[in-house]
Amino acid sequence: MHYAIISDVHANLEALEAVLEDIRKRDLCKNILFLGDAVGYGANPNECIKLLKENSLILLAGNHDWAVLGLTDIEDFNPYAKTAIHWTMEVISEENKKTLSTFPISKSLKKDSIFLVHSTPKEPHKWHYLFSISDAEVNFKYFSERICLIAHSHQPFILERQADGRMQTHRERVKLRKDSRYIINVGSVGQPRDGDMRACYAILNDVSVELIRVEYDLEKTQKKMYDEGLPAFLIERLSKGM
Ligand code: ZN
Repeated sequence: MHYAIISDVHANLEALEAVLEDIRKRDLCKNILFLGDAVGYGANPNECIKLLKENSLILLAGNHDWAVLGLTDIEDFNPYAKTAIHWTMEVISEENKKTLSTFPISKSLKKDSIFLVHSTPKEPHKWHYLFSISDAEVNFKYFSERICLIAHSHQPFILERQADGRMQTHRERVKLRKDSRYIINVGSVGQPRDGDMRACYAILNDVSVELIRVEYDLEKTQKKMYDEGLPAFLIERLSKGM
């Protein structure tokens, strides 16, 4: 088992390209898992869907992908996200819509005992967030695999549940214990929100999991968003990673 796990690209082409380059250097480009939200917010939805499709072993859909397909109600989206969804609906190609519509919202990799989902193992279609230890306690009951890979909040973490039930949160890198179970949030490639503007993804192998940060051409991304008339709030928050 040796995977690069990416998520929440949100049509940020420069961030995706930088992450794919980093993955290529580590010789992992045939082992990419994508956890959803290819589109929404950014200026290059078509290019990002194409690249993700060409490069990923597994592709999931996120709530923004479903929003563009008309499969989820965007009433709960903030006004900036709504504007970006409407813009995306206008520019996305029919072919890419078809591609997005083939992505499931969760999947199990039985041979590695990994469950993949954009939001949470409990009711993945309701797009819950997993922020607290008590959220995690509940969600550990909703998958049987050893490791669950999630995203959605754009805030990466590694949560370990030891055999005796004790929970521990790790940052950056941890050695995996055979008798522990894990929920790992792989963060966001295209719109990090943990105070670090660099793109985020995760590498998982038999012995460890690591959260990786990658610099990308932020100014180029922001200029494209301005040129497309996307909301200033979405453009500026990229500089802060918030
Ligand atoms: Zn997202």
